[in-house]
Amino acid sequence: MATIVPYTFEKKEEKALYFTSFVKGMKVLIATEKPFAKAAVDGMVEILEGAGHTVVRLEKYTDKTQLLDAVADVDALIVRSDKITCDVLAAAPNLKIVVRAGAGYDNVDCCDAKARGVVVMNTPGQNSNAVAELAIAMMIFMSRNCFTPGTGGEIKGKTLAIHAYGNVGRLVGCKGKALGMNVIAYDPFVSDCSVFECDGVERVESMEELYRRADFLSLHIPATPQTKGSIGYELLTSMPKGATLVNTARKEVIDEAGLCKALSEREDLKYVSDVAPECCCQMNEQFGKRVFATPKKMGAETAEANINAGLAAARQIVDFFETGNTKFQVNR
Ligand code: NAD
Repeated sequence: MATIVPYTFEKKEEKALYFTSFVKGMKVLIATEKPFAKAAVDGMVEILEGAGHTVVRLEKYTDKTQLLDAVADVDALIVRSDKITCDVLAAAPNLKIVVRAGAGYDNVDCCDAKARGVVVMNTPGQNSNAVAELAIAMMIFMSRNCFTPGTGGEIKGKTLAIHAYGNVGRLVGCKGKALGMNVIAYDPFVSDCSVFECDGVERVESMEELYRRADFLSLHIPATPQTKGSIGYELLTSMPKGATLVNTARKEVIDEAGLCKALSEREDLKYVSDVAPECCCQMNEQFGKRVFATPKKMGAETAEANINAGLAAARQIVDFFETGNTKFQVNR
């Protein structure tokens, strides 16, 4: 059983005392099946070692046992899409913090981490521009017949509907406006209406209205128990003629059976996705150029996003050990 490390404190002095006992000399593991760019790793090592911590790296590992061995004596862990399941957490009795360098943290078992007193953080906003640029590129790619001969369409003047107006959704909206699109958005959890007004984006009150009006629907909801499998037949078939669903969120939010049924019945609908659906081969065979998926998740795969997210993860760890800052904690 892992040591339980408290991270909520009755008094400020208790917290200060707890964290001064760490400050320096923590062992930080960067565990990445798909490694960061070299410039990102160099910067992360500089930040962490500069603050007096030791850095170890496990890159391109091919077997989970390598990860289980590597976490055995570490205090902090930085990962990308690596799966941090309960067995990994159980194998890391000294672990105090996991930072997912990226936005989505569905690859980390946050509940189990919380039960063990391990803080989980993400690095929100650090890779958003990369993902937003890919979403726009995908719209143009699908409008131009996947860059094959034939008459395509323009995105200017079309309605771009943003499902979830967080860091990525907002950037996609702003880029869409700059390209002359009519941008609408739906996000019930944004309480401050001025965000939409300030961007010149129309806020719609229901998901149904959003899909009904979308020439391009750009999906940015996180994968949660509530959202998994939530985008299916009814919503897709309510979209206007010739509409395209652009998914740079997660494949798990799509009801794939519903998607296939909608594409079968509506020969005008298109689907483009950052990372292939489970039934991608069958979909490509059946729907041809109306479906396109990146072979590997590549939304955040830019040197800039890699560096931003990696450096932010390193800084958050240094700050956590020095001051107890848990601003970006996602498992409270
Ligand atoms: P974010 O946390 O900034 O924004 C998420 C938004 O979703 C928030 O505004 C929240 O209010 C909204 N939301 C949550 N549940 C909702 C629901 N049921 N209905 C409508 N809105 C809801 O995250 P982000 O940085 O914008 O990233 C969005 C998602 O994109 C991530 O969760 C991740 O899964 C995915 N992502 C993919 C890549 C990639 O490489 N393709 C990279 C980064 C992020």
